[in-house]
Amino acid sequence: MKQHLKTLEIYLHIPFCIRKCEYCDFLSAPAGLQTQERYVRALEQEMRGRAAEYREYQVSTVFIGGGTPSILKPEWIRRLLDTLRCQYQVAADAEITLEANPGTVDVHTLKQFYHAGINRLSLGLQSTWDEELKALGRIHTYQQFLDAYEAAVSAGFTHINVDLMSGLPGQTLESYETTLRRVAELIPPPEHISAYSLILEEGTPLAERYEAGALELPREETERQLYVLSKEILQEYGYERYEISNYARNGCVCRHNVGYWTRENYLGFGIGAASLVENVRFQNGRELQRYLTDPLGQREQLQQLSLTEQMEEYLFLGLRLTAGIAVQDFYNTFHYELEQIYGQVIEKHIKEDLLAYTDRVGGRYLHLTERGLDLANYVMADFLEPQLPG
Ligand code: SF4
Repeated sequence: MKQHLKTLEIYLHIPFCIRKCEYCDFLSAPAGLQTQERYVRALEQEMRGRAAEYREYQVSTVFIGGGTPSILKPEWIRRLLDTLRCQYQVAADAEITLEANPGTVDVHTLKQFYHAGINRLSLGLQSTWDEELKALGRIHTYQQFLDAYEAAVSAGFTHINVDLMSGLPGQTLESYETTLRRVAELIPPPEHISAYSLILEEGTPLAERYEAGALELPREETERQLYVLSKEILQEYGYERYEISNYARNGCVCRHNVGYWTRENYLGFGIGAASLVENVRFQNGRELQRYLTDPLGQREQLQQLSLTEQMEEYLFLGLRLTAGIAVQDFYNTFHYELEQIYGQVIEKHIKEDLLAYTDRVGGRYLHLTERGLDLANYVMADFLEPQLPG
């Protein structure tokens, strides 16, 4: 009898960058080649050591993120993917994404990544203005991005995402509009664009300069307009917003991220990598040296999610998607009607034109309205700590 496999998404964290960007608080830092290679070996060890626990799963997506995974030698990326394929059941059509910094790749390395099995490339551009890139401390220029993009296309990549940011120091409505148009007019156009707002993270050089009054950022009203601009301009070029900050052409969404928002099982490898498998959440420790010496001994913060925590997450993540959540799926997952748990909250936000129901193929969906998408945090806060009936 054919065994039915459950779905699993895999994330590999590569915590290395050429140089730290001014706004970055991700778990990443520069490191020499020797450390990088030791880390790759530790990742392989962790993947091999965990494989027996996940025999009943089929891997639907792999995301190699960071940090700057593209600074790794292509032969190391190949080794990581070979280990994965050898130890786990990776679906033939798995989406396998590599995050790449335009300042670290050329046609030669991109071809090798492609032949190693990477089938989706996520290029961190952020802005097409060199002054804005410089203010962020990015290592690349717009021209380097253009070269990287062309190289990626000629290496064979058809699935490409470009990351952009709004709310940057010195950014204006005009400069951001130009950035959006330049990216949407690339030939061929990228199938996916992520457009996030800059968040000032405490302790970063950018935040410190801002607190010291040495940095000007767009005012709140301009920031709101920048946010609206992403949607308006990208729609003009055929991009559909399918998540608060993510846009895709022809339905080419990022399957890995959609899986995360719909609470598929996901398993993270590497320092700081988080996992959620069968409603148990856990995370690897963040210390590089400890991971290098004992990659299998780093799991911590194991937490079995209660039913209400699962519901909270389900709403919190699912409503990020413009399609929203399927009412029937909520019932199938939790054996409670959605309205039984959240009736009052839903009613309140429908009255405020922040939430709506829509009937589509597959049933009834609850989703944020256009207005609700702009005020998502306000709406979602009301879905915390649900009360079970009885
Ligand atoms: S490239 Fe990305 S991960 Fe690396 S320092 Fe810059 S923002 Fe952080």
